[in-house]
Amino acid sequence: MTNRFLQMMFVLLSFTTLNAHAAVTRFEPARVFDGEALHDNWIVLVDGNSILYAGTASAAPAVAVDKTISLDGQTLLPGLIEGHAHILLHPYNETPWNDQVLKESDAERVARAVNHVRESLQAGVTTIRDLGTEGAGYADVGIRDSINKGIIPGPRLIVSGRAIVATGSYGPKGFHERVEVPLGAETADGYDDLVRVVRSQIGHDIDFVKVYADYRWGLHGAAAPTFSEKELATIVEVARSSGRYVAAHASTAEAIERSVRAGVETIEHGDDATAETYKLMRKHNVALCPTLAAGDAISQYNGWNKSVDPEPQRIQDKRASFKQALASGVTICFGGDVGVYAHGDNVRELEMMVEYGMDASQALKAATSVNADVFHISDKVGRIKAGLLADIIAVDGNPLDNIAALRYVRVVMKDGVLYKID
Ligand SMILES: [Zn+2]
Repeated sequence: MTNRFLQMMFVLLSFTTLNAHAAVTRFEPARVFDGEALHDNWIVLVDGNSILYAGTASAAPAVAVDKTISLDGQTLLPGLIEGHAHILLHPYNETPWNDQVLKESDAERVARAVNHVRESLQAGVTTIRDLGTEGAGYADVGIRDSINKGIIPGPRLIVSGRAIVATGSYGPKGFHERVEVPLGAETADGYDDLVRVVRSQIGHDIDFVKVYADYRWGLHGAAAPTFSEKELATIVEVARSSGRYVAAHASTAEAIERSVRAGVETIEHGDDATAETYKLMRKHNVALCPTLAAGDAISQYNGWNKSVDPEPQRIQDKRASFKQALASGVTICFGGDVGVYAHGDNVRELEMMVEYGMDASQALKAATSVNADVFHISDKVGRIKAGLLADIIAVDGNPLDNIAALRYVRVVMKDGVLYKID
């Protein structure tokens, strides 16, 4: 691992050296959100694939500029980092999850994913953390590598492969006992089995481990914990010794608490977290990916006419729990469970975060610097800062005044390459 890392660093350094001031681009936007704060009248210089300078024009280094891009009225900011996606799923109102897992071939699912990653990039998402292929094996690893090799356009992918579930907990379900169906994730239980499966997933080159710490397998379909705290700690121990962290799907307070005590770093969904749960998360520095947009989408697929009907209980509860999360000071990531709704519509989650009470500046930080910090990639992306990779977007207007400005993406640059400019 270390050798490979050094090798990669060497390649990266030689690349930068060879291209020293070969192609400096100067961006002149109305304002820059650098991942932390807004700055009027800043310029940004990009040299090759990295950011050379961000600041006032008067203090800029004297370098030959090859191309100047003026962005009148536009805000330049780091490429968005989607924290919870499933690039191998598409909206459930098109095809229910069960049918996607059971009836769509791997080839079809990959073909769809190629579109999904392209649409995401065009929408200003330059990094995606993917939370499991849901039955499509390690297709996410192959897509990540295809993007990195330049075969298809797409965001940087941080992938978790098959994900891990406890025996009996996960779907597709609803078949009689002699019908064997492929599951949406890999089953493992107990110490030996979990050690083997986590190592196997690591061997398939995933970037982090996703575990379902609870699922709707309780009495009458209620969400209930799956793994014991000891089992979760085993997963974390094996993942961590390989330099990887663990993300846990968890809605119940009990599963969240077990996960946090076991050393998991992000909680996905977190619907039934209590004030105590949030306190524990804060103490252990665990982030919450609230996936507000997924619940909103599913409620509408189930018949809720949002513009007419009163809010279903599920939505009211989610609103209240998100408010409580904000008040608790727990780190909140931007992750909407996109795939449940359309890829490229990632901003929907940010709009809901603001609608549910978060400051636009906090939401914007969540989508850039906070996610970069939480996902251990802040040495590469997430801020407009000299030395970081040039993952840059520009949008019409000011997203701090109106978060929906993020829907009007005019420029997308990833790794110094322009994928969109209009
Ligand atoms: Zn998910």
